[in-house]
Amino acid sequence: MDDQLNYAPCGYLVMQKDGRIMEANQTMLDMLELAGHELADQHIHSILTVPSKMYYQTYFTPLISMYQRVNEMYLTLRSRKEHIPVLVNAIEREGRIEFVFMQMKLRDEYENELIWEKRHTEWILQETNEAYWKLQQLMSELESKKQELVTLNAELQEMALSDPLTGLKNRRFFQERMAAFLQQAETEEVPFSILLIDVDHFKKVNDTFGHPIGDLVLQELAVKLENEIREEDVVARMGGEEFVIILSQTSAKKVRMIAERVRKNIAYSVWAHTAVTVSIGAATYEKDDTSITLLSRADGALYQSKKEGRNRVSFQ
Ligand code: GH3
Ligand code: MG
Ligand code: MG
Repeated sequence: MDDQLNYAPCGYLVMQKDGRIMEANQTMLDMLELAGHELADQHIHSILTVPSKMYYQTYFTPLISMYQRVNEMYLTLRSRKEHIPVLVNAIEREGRIEFVFMQMKLRDEYENELIWEKRHTEWILQETNEAYWKLQQLMSELESKKQELVTLNAELQEMALSDPLTGLKNRRFFQERMAAFLQQAETEEVPFSILLIDVDHFKKVNDTFGHPIGDLVLQELAVKLENEIREEDVVARMGGEEFVIILSQTSAKKVRMIAERVRKNIAYSVWAHTAVTVSIGAATYEKDDTSITLLSRADGALYQSKKEGRNRVSFQ
C-alpha cells in the first residue's frame, strides 16, 4: 500500500467476500488502536459493535451483493477503549470488498452542541414566554386592582355624600347641587324651588315607640319622598327629621301645588309603624339669591307652617 493511501485522511480496509479482513491502512489501524497483525484475517464482525453487526448483516451484506456498492451507511466500530461512529462507503471489486471509513465522532459532537444550543434557545424562549405570561398576568391583576380602586373610590365618594340611615343624599350633596342650581338659574334664568320638610312632633314618635322605630319611620319617609320627585330633582336629608327637596325648573306658581301634593301624599299614606305628618316651607329662586338667602326664606316658611298648626305648606 503506498504512503498516500496508508496515511489518507480516512480509514481504508479491504475484505474478502467471506468477511475476513485482508488489509487496512494506518489511519484505520490508528482509529481502532490496533497493530496491523492484530487485524489481519479477523472477521469484519470483530471490529463492529453488536448492534452494528446486526445492521451489517441485515443491510450491508444484501446491498453489496446486489449492487456491489454501498454508500453512506452509518455503523459503529469498536476499538479497545471506545465506540467510534463512522460513515461507510464500500465497493466490491475483483472479488474483494473495499471500505472507506469516515470517522463521525466530531460530527456527533458538533451535532450534540447544535442540539444543546437548540435546547438552550428553546429553554430561553420558554423562559421568555413564561416571563411574558407572568407579566400579562401581573398587568391584568394591576388592571383589576385599579378597577377595584376606582369602584372603592366611587363607593367612598358615594358614602361621603350619602346619609347612612335613609340612603338618601346628605346635606353636603345638597349644598353642592344647590350651588349648581343657583349658577344655572343665574346664567340661564332657569327657575327652581326648594322644599324644607320637617316631621311633625317626631320627638313623640321616639318617646312612644322608641328610637329604633323612629329610625324606621325616617327610612319609610325617605322612600315616600323619593317617590315624589322626578329624576332631575334632588332629595336629601338635612339632618335629624328634616329633609330638603330641590325642584328643578319649578316656578313660584308651581311650587305651592307640588308642596301641597307632597304634604298630602305623606299625610294620607299608609305607614308600617306609625303615621306621621310633615310641615313644609317652600321658596323659589329669586334674582341675586344665595344658598343662605334662599334657605332662610324656606326656613321662615317652615317656621310659619309649624306656627300655624303643622301638617301644612307655607311659601316665602
Ligand atoms: P316639631 O313638630 O316642632 O318639629 O317637633 P319635633 O318633635 O319633630 O321636633 P324636635 O326638634 O323637638 O325633635 C326632633 C326629634 O327628632 C328629636 C330627636 O331625638 C329626633 N331625631 C333626630 N334624628 C333622629 C334619628 O336619626 N333617629 C331618630 N329615631 N330620631 C331622631
Ligand atoms: Mg326639626
Ligand atoms: Mg320636627
